[in-house]
Amino acid sequence: MESLSGRSKVVVKKEMTFLERIYLPAILGGVIITLKHLFRRKATIKYPEKKREFSDVWRGQHVLKRDDKGAERCTACGLCAVSCPAEAITMTAAERRKGEEHLYREERYASKYEINMLRCIFCGLCEEACPKEAIFLTDRLVPTEFQREDFIYGKDKLVEPADNRIDVTKRQTPAVLEFKKNKWFAHNK
Ligand code: SF4
Ligand code: SF4
Repeated sequence: MESLSGRSKVVVKKEMTFLERIYLPAILGGVIITLKHLFRRKATIKYPEKKREFSDVWRGQHVLKRDDKGAERCTACGLCAVSCPAEAITMTAAERRKGEEHLYREERYASKYEINMLRCIFCGLCEEACPKEAIFLTDRLVPTEFQREDFIYGKDKLVEPADNRIDVTKRQTPAVLEFKKNKWFAHNK
């Protein structure tokens, strides 16, 4: 039968030589390859006893930041959700009521804010899109879970505790700080 490409290869069933039949040269070749790998630097580590150091700008579990007075910075503008390529972020906006100024920085806030960690690809675009410096990725790993629904992180897991702030200063690299000097791009001061 003629092939579409017009190319063909005749397969010849060649008799094995004596050396091929005893397999010893092939076995020896395999042993040499194994021995070579024994003396090479290993690509793997013994996790969890040993852990690799993360880069300062490693992108791990998100945090929703509070301002200096402890109020939530997020204003539920939705820009992070729109910029998320994985469609991992959902939220519900609410109006701040009188007397809630100490809880929410802006007149609108996210009464519900969720990130699906199974969808998230930790690209950091939500952080870049946020005009209020409300969301940052951190150097924390997302812990393993047994149920899929446990990977839907709500405000209880995302908003930083008022008395135990999450440090994100390492993410403010010189390039980021330079960028923020531009008055057109300067985020909330
Ligand atoms: S890090 Fe990327 S994928 Fe994850 S929530 Fe933010 S924008 Fe979406
Ligand atoms: S985290 Fe930032 S971008 Fe996302 S809704 Fe809140 S203020 Fe807007």
